[in-house]
Amino acid sequence: MAGRTDEIAVMYGGKIVEQAPTADLFSAVRMPYTEALLGSIPKIADPSHTRLLAIGGRPPDLVVPPKGCNFAPRCPYVQPKCLDEDPPLVETTPGHLHRCWFPVGSEENLEIRARLGDAAPPSAAQPEGLLDDADITIDTAGWRDTGGM
Ligand code: SF4
Repeated sequence: MAGRTDEIAVMYGGKIVEQAPTADLFSAVRMPYTEALLGSIPKIADPSHTRLLAIGGRPPDLVVPPKGCNFAPRCPYVQPKCLDEDPPLVETTPGHLHRCWFPVGSEENLEIRARLGDAAPPSAAQPEGLLDDADITIDTAGWRDTGGM
């Protein structure tokens, strides 16, 4: 996807939670849900049978949405404010919008991460080994022509 789009909007619980030019989104994730999505992508460099990271919990009930941030029950960085107030969609750098009180990479988020210690999710830096079109080489030398379907 990173090689095929100019801009990405990430939705959670029926709302856009992060929107940014593609390169910006991958290099400077702000929303913890986006961070969790990127963390769940298999990496080429991982040994086989490496367990994929899963996002614990369940999506929100949209009939009776939770008070505060929709992602709070599943967010590793959740704070009391998140349970009370729904964060607005804000633009912190040109074209990069996010919906989070303690965005990834912010000073507050780094403090929360430090308190979590080993329980903190993997760094939000661009996952190494993400599949890119430029990385794919298909050797068709041994393929047989079966005459179509
Ligand atoms: S507002 Fe709070 S609960 Fe919601 S994503 Fe941000 S840190 Fe997590």
